[in-house]
Formats: sequence, structure tokens, C-alpha cells
Amino acid sequence: MLTIFGLLGQRRRAKITEIVSTRRSIRSRGPNAKNTLCSRGHPYDVVVIKKNGQIYRDCRECRRHHKAKFLARIGMTESEYGRRRRYVRRQKILAGRGLPVVPSLVPK
Ligand SMILES: [Zn+2]
Repeated sequence: MLTIFGLLGQRRRAKITEIVSTRRSIRSRGPNAKNTLCSRGHPYDVVVIKKNGQIYRDCRECRRHHKAKFLARIGMTESEYGRRRRYVRRQKILAGRGLPVVPSLVPK
């Protein structure tokens, strides 16, 4: 899942959230298009843009909850998981350039 949302400044985030939250701007005519709250009653305050181009609204509270659940399941802290993801991304870049993977850089 790709989200550039987190990389944007506060003003742009607020604007995107505002536009996507506006009923008229929502392309979906699905049954949830008019909802402004998630199924647990939190406001939709995040816009997620997936790698495949899908855009959907989400709430921070539930994202936090699911992330914590996921991290607990894989037994990593947030910083360990971040380090692991950065490592994997670096290795993909190196592999794409035909460069060898350096074993000493492999995190625990
Ligand atoms: Zn929620």
C-alpha cells in the first residue's frame, strides 16, 4: 500500500481530506459513499492512495489499531519494522542495479 499522504504538509493534507470527504467529490456511488464516520464511529480523516490507484478514506484511530495488531502479530516494534522495510527497499534497489547484497547489512 502506497500513501503519499503522510509525506504532504498539513495544509495539503487538510485540503485533500476536505475534498475527498465532500460527498460530491466522491466518485463511488456505493452504499458507504455518504458516510463520514467509520463503522466504529470515528471520523474519516485520512485519504489512502494505493499503488494500484485506488483511493479510499480511512480513520486514524482504526489504522492505529490495526497497525498495532499487525506489529504484535509479527513481534516487531514500529522502529524495527521501519528498519526492516527500509532494508528490503534498499536491497530491491541494489538488486535492480545488479549489485550484490551485503550480508553484514542484514538486520537481526
Ligand atoms: Zn475507525
